[in-house]
Amino acid sequence: MMIIAATERLARARQQEYDWHQQELGRQTWPTAPVKTLNAWMSELWEEGMYLRSDPPFLRPLRSAEEQIIWENILRSQARHLPLDVSATAELARNSWKLLCDWRLPLEGTDWNSSEDSRTFQKWALEFRARCDRNGWFAAAELSKHVARLVNEGQVEIPQELELCGFLEPTPAQEQFFEALRKRGTRIQETPLPNHAEKSFRLSASDTFREIRVAAEWARRILQNDPEAERRSFRIGIILPGIGNLRSHVERVFSEVFHPQAWLHPEQDSKRLFNISLGLPAGDYPIIQSALQILSIDPREIPIEEASRLLLSPFLPGFSEERTSRALLDVALRNRGEQYVTLRDLIYLAKKESSLHQCPLLASLFVAWQAQYSDLGGRKKPSGWAEALSQLLQSKIQDNDGDASTKSQRISWPGTWQSVSAEYQTYSVWEELVSALVELDGVCGSITRQRAVTILRRMASSKLFQPERDPAPVQILGVLEAMGLSFDYLWMIGMHDDAWPPPCEPAPFVPIGLQRRKELWRSTPEGMLQHAQTLADRLLKSAPTIVVSHPRREGDADRRVSPLFTELPEVSEEDLGVSTIESLGERIQRSSKMEFIEDHQGLPFGEGKVRGGTSLFKLQAACPFRAFAELRLGATAPGIAQPGLAAQDRGRLMHRVLDILWRQLRTQAALRALSEQEEADLVRGIVREELDRLTSFRGGLRNERFLCVEQARLEKIIGEWLALERERTPFTVLEQEKRQDVTVGGIDISGTNADVDENEREAGQDVTVAGIDIRIQEDRVDLLEGGERFILDYKTGGCRVSLWDGERPDDPQLPIYAVVADSPIAGISFGSLMMGDVKFKGIANQDIGNKGVKVSKEPLPELIGHWRETLNALGRDYKAGHAIVDPKIPGQTCRYCNLTTFCRVGSPPVKSSQKDE
Ligand code: SF4
Repeated sequence: MMIIAATERLARARQQEYDWHQQELGRQTWPTAPVKTLNAWMSELWEEGMYLRSDPPFLRPLRSAEEQIIWENILRSQARHLPLDVSATAELARNSWKLLCDWRLPLEGTDWNSSEDSRTFQKWALEFRARCDRNGWFAAAELSKHVARLVNEGQVEIPQELELCGFLEPTPAQEQFFEALRKRGTRIQETPLPNHAEKSFRLSASDTFREIRVAAEWARRILQNDPEAERRSFRIGIILPGIGNLRSHVERVFSEVFHPQAWLHPEQDSKRLFNISLGLPAGDYPIIQSALQILSIDPREIPIEEASRLLLSPFLPGFSEERTSRALLDVALRNRGEQYVTLRDLIYLAKKESSLHQCPLLASLFVAWQAQYSDLGGRKKPSGWAEALSQLLQSKIQDNDGDASTKSQRISWPGTWQSVSAEYQTYSVWEELVSALVELDGVCGSITRQRAVTILRRMASSKLFQPERDPAPVQILGVLEAMGLSFDYLWMIGMHDDAWPPPCEPAPFVPIGLQRRKELWRSTPEGMLQHAQTLADRLLKSAPTIVVSHPRREGDADRRVSPLFTELPEVSEEDLGVSTIESLGERIQRSSKMEFIEDHQGLPFGEGKVRGGTSLFKLQAACPFRAFAELRLGATAPGIAQPGLAAQDRGRLMHRVLDILWRQLRTQAALRALSEQEEADLVRGIVREELDRLTSFRGGLRNERFLCVEQARLEKIIGEWLALERERTPFTVLEQEKRQDVTVGGIDISGTNADVDENEREAGQDVTVAGIDIRIQEDRVDLLEGGERFILDYKTGGCRVSLWDGERPDDPQLPIYAVVADSPIAGISFGSLMMGDVKFKGIANQDIGNKGVKVSKEPLPELIGHWRETLNALGRDYKAGHAIVDPKIPGQTCRYCNLTTFCRVGSPPVKSSQKDE
């Protein structure tokens, strides 16, 4: 006898029961159980009928992706004027067509004039039918009609007996097929429904999350305590309507309850004690996401987030060898602050010799891709794209192993993933998706690469998949999937008055009057109630012990038990023995022992140069912990992508332009000798050249409008600045960007920041400050007429003289330069180069003929003496490892610091009683 199951799950369950029965009979081999789903069986019959057929018509059922594309094409041609999401509307139209077929609703008649939506859909549907007729296609939903015809015509072999299992209410289309079978003599019977009901209860929980946790704990305790749980056919069902929305939460809670060790042993995943029936869309699996990402790349413009995902993808060849350098490359990329990057830039960075982020394997993969992307323009048939895209993914790394003539070949995408069965199965799904693309030639015509990838992406998101696992005793499933199944215990979650019976859901596009006349149960509240009642009656008989639960609150709304279950006796969590349950986090916290340590002191700084240059003193003054974390531990946040230039880039660009300008001019006299036009031309030329240089290795900035704006901005600021320079007393530029090693208080400081791009890095001068050897690089030192020096520091952000004050100066850079100067200095000054605030801001021993430089209230030598003491104190603290969390001005100092979670400055103070424990 042939058994036809209503769902895949039921078919598998029947097959499994059959196999166990054969094993109990002691058999080693046995024929496969004759259990199929209705669709699988009808497809077989159709293929058999077509194979045997010698006369036309030779029709072909459409695949789901083909139907979608046909509907999309119809919408694009007929609804161009409508503001539609074509893909989503096509899916709605496809579902409406399925409804027409399942319920055998006519596409003609006055009902279709009832609304604009219906009339429009009718036109689309007629076009769909016409296209199918012209090409010998039919929709998958019409399969039963066509197979019924084959049965009527006697063109296929049919069984004498048929058992229907789990069919709740066959649709008219299914009935038509069953009727055809009956007419040809097949005896059809239904599998008797399970009837186990012994004890059923209802329970209320605070909310749905609590229901899920209590259900999981209840199931775990049954597995632990019921001796019957040893039986391999033992089953606990957990039914959850709308399981898709809560899937990840259910997965997490059941993992915590059943496999708290799972995080440490992901390889044991296939042996889990619970199984969630609903798979995830294939496109949600990382391996498939990585393939889609590679295929969709535009090598001229890769969003920084995409580039980051690429660099950190474990599915790119060479990941295990280069994971650290790829992570560093990601940081370097983010630190550029650009929103887009080109493949050429990525290759340049990945190849960069002697950098920490050099990734030769990745670079050679990108080079291979670059060559192939250039061939992926234009249009091709889907089968052509399937081949071209597969070739791109199969690009192999050529790894030069030292001998120029010998190159060894490395593996291609998806790299050397761990031999986890789940990933292998997911990879197989990807191959199926690409094969399905090949089959779209008939409906697609020639398309672009982006369209081909969009189709692949949609197929991946509509294909639900989950890797096969060993049969599990706890089954978590939706309501319809549970139909026809028997359980030892059953828990039904979410059975509240607003959800069960569900509200009616008439199909959009199909006239509501037609739906109601043909008694589609979804179209009326009465139909929904009756349907829900039938489901509830069946479920309440599917296990000896059943708990029906509902939340008391959902969001802001109060909930009560569904009226379909009010007759059940109520139980509490205590009655079920599950009132005292804890999440894994709570368990860990409860079992933890508090230990208090003072962590204000790091290890003293040893020998050698420190990172950060003069910023060390600035950070130490702002917050000792920040200096320790950023400079000793390297705890810095990666940059944030933003349009145009980052503030850091703007500063470097301004410095370079002024550096080049004064290298050419050298003296104020040379500046004054220029006419207004000559000065403007000189500045314009230097700015243009520097912008070109910057964009030559920063592809993301190559944008003509941006370049024009930046050019104008720089010219304006520099023009205003040079006007101030002209007004000063005469000077000669003595030094610019000169590197110097000095000692301040005994700490060696490298004047460069380790995160700065090598091309842009300012080499510096090594000095010792407060015993600290540091490398400094003064922006500019002028020689004044009296033979004294004037030190200048360009600033493109806000600045003021008061930043040098106090024992915790906000910006001690110029004081450091003053302290380590080996010749008498007349003054120090910021060169403020901010739009709207272009001026000198400094102090001098006496009036030096510069409006922005004031005479110091305190003689400069004394002031420098104070600065030396301050710097010594900061340097000593830093060297000693003093790392207390002590922001200079709480709130304000922390505002632009990224370490709040690390330093825990916002954590409540530990109570003394806790400390005493
Ligand atoms: S967030 Fe504040 S307290 Fe914490 S390290 Fe940064 S500056 Fe210091």
